[in-house]
Amino acid sequence: MIELRTPTQIEQMRPAGRFVASVISALSEKAAVGVNLLELDELAHRMIKDAGATSCYIDYHPSFGAMPFGKVLCTSVNDAVLHGLPYDYMLQDGDLLSVDFAASVDGWVSDSALSVVVGNADPKDLQLIDTAQRALDAGIAAARSGNRLGDISFAIGSVAHEAGLKVNLQFGGHGVGRTMHGDPHVPNDGQAGRGLKLRPGLVIAIEPWFLHTTDEIRFDPDGWTIRSADGSRGAHVEHTVAITDGDAIVLTSRD
Ligand code: MG
Repeated sequence: MIELRTPTQIEQMRPAGRFVASVISALSEKAAVGVNLLELDELAHRMIKDAGATSCYIDYHPSFGAMPFGKVLCTSVNDAVLHGLPYDYMLQDGDLLSVDFAASVDGWVSDSALSVVVGNADPKDLQLIDTAQRALDAGIAAARSGNRLGDISFAIGSVAHEAGLKVNLQFGGHGVGRTMHGDPHVPNDGQAGRGLKLRPGLVIAIEPWFLHTTDEIRFDPDGWTIRSADGSRGAHVEHTVAITDGDAIVLTSRD
């Protein structure tokens, strides 16, 4: 079911967005060669406690997960791109790390993700992150009242195709509200002018993620961590946005 939020409710969603943005910023500052993925999860956990927020991940147990997630943060390294379960791993020089974080504040959820390279970066990895970021910006620019959902998907997919990337349609953006995942599904490629008409009050997470040389994925045995089928690296960026009469409000903006 598609739910639209009133301007008052969108104002009430801002603290969650600000909090999630602050955690993503703190994680990107802390991520460095020699830092353990479990330390990043602990940092996010501490920030949740200090803010009186609620994790969307720790008890999350969809059908594809072998067990509840058990952590508050997704950390996906190199060929892992989505849903990476933090484990005892120390970041190495040149690792491409994607962090994805969602939490609830005052009963409203926000969801955001960012990719960074620690240490000396392969320029190709920086390019992949840049493409994902430009796709996110294009998707946000298309998230306007009067447009259709397909315009967002088309905008994201166009940036990917121009960069020579294939797009996986199995996982994409989603509605955000009282819970982390709601309708509509927001694919990372599609046809302009098609699909749901966008109206003020629609709040969605837009989250392009791309792999260097494939659109095929495989799952770790635990059902969580998603990797490229061919071992190539991936990048993932995400913002929660509210559609208005004008420009979308980027609730998880870090500016
Ligand atoms: Mg997310």
